[in-house]
Amino acid sequence: METIIKKIDIHSKKPEDFSKAAYILQQGGLVAFPTETVYGLGADGLNKEAAKKIYYAKGRPSDNPLILHIADKDALDVLAIDVPKNAKKLAEKFWPGPLTIILKKSIQVPKETTGGLNTVAIRMPAHPLALELIRRSHVFIAAPSANTSGRPSPTCASHVFEDLNGKIDMILDGGSVEIGIESTIIDMTSEIPMILRPGFITREMIEKEIGTVSYDRVVLLEKPDTHILPKAPGMKYRHYAPKGNLCIIEGKMEQVIDYISCNVHKKILQGNRVGIIATEETKEQYKEGIVKTIGSRKDEKTILQGLYSVLREFDSLKVEYIYSESFSEGEHGQAIMNRLLKAAGYQKEKI
Ligand code: AMP
Ligand code: MG
Repeated sequence: METIIKKIDIHSKKPEDFSKAAYILQQGGLVAFPTETVYGLGADGLNKEAAKKIYYAKGRPSDNPLILHIADKDALDVLAIDVPKNAKKLAEKFWPGPLTIILKKSIQVPKETTGGLNTVAIRMPAHPLALELIRRSHVFIAAPSANTSGRPSPTCASHVFEDLNGKIDMILDGGSVEIGIESTIIDMTSEIPMILRPGFITREMIEKEIGTVSYDRVVLLEKPDTHILPKAPGMKYRHYAPKGNLCIIEGKMEQVIDYISCNVHKKILQGNRVGIIATEETKEQYKEGIVKTIGSRKDEKTILQGLYSVLREFDSLKVEYIYSESFSEGEHGQAIMNRLLKAAGYQKEKI
């Protein structure tokens, strides 16, 4: 299949910019498009056959459910039943935005979209192009991240192209995304609402609106435990993984820099290609290895934005070992470390 690539201004309202993509979605095809979190791989979420195509193109396990994207909060009552008041409160506060809400599914939503579950994940994205695509296609777009399963999520159209060229009908190129990591997922079907995946919307922000929420235990684990299954099926898979062996080093910054430098030196002597995930503040201090800046500690948002593209860059450079500084401090530390630890297969050293 030839994949059509179309550049669109993210604020475009021109019908002709969307007509092809809308037609493909209505016919049960696949269109990748930008959202504010990462690029999504979209299909008609109420069409079983279309949803199945997403799994096939991504190589995604069929028990890993998709998120349904809507452009209008009223769609909640079409796709879900028994919607709790607090879920509506969260939708009012955070939508459009990077929060996915899990609710009991309505009969409209096929189990092919929900990975066989009786619950459904719903989000209204805060991206003008994504919203326009949903409105113009009149489709509830099921969309997981537009990467091959297991690879880092795509934060620009070229990442999507790398993974899915020839496997999907179309890519809408709206430039780089704003946030850079996937949405926060909150399960509103449990007695105490539960965060299944940390993201840009933090626990503190949610608790301000609806009171106490808990974390799925798995999110807080430093090492995976085969006896505890995560409530978001997708969280059990090794994700976001670069091809090189990644290890995170945690400790006082000066010691971290010394430790990484020393290990990089040893690995280079052994004939390896070695990369370092550094920050604007530390990059000059590493004298050997391929040094990439993930962002600046002064602006945590830049770290979220840089995370996945740095991992992909190291892949294309065929780096065999990667050492990363740790990013657990700060408002979004939980979300950053959740992704980075998974990418590292939970390899972390405290010094
Ligand atoms: P992605 O769109 O690639 O970020 O993947 C969607 C994520 O949402 C995966 O981790 C899924 O496991 C999770 N998810 C989707 N639907 C549900 C659901 N009904 N219950 C729990 N987790 C879900
Ligand atoms: Mg994903």
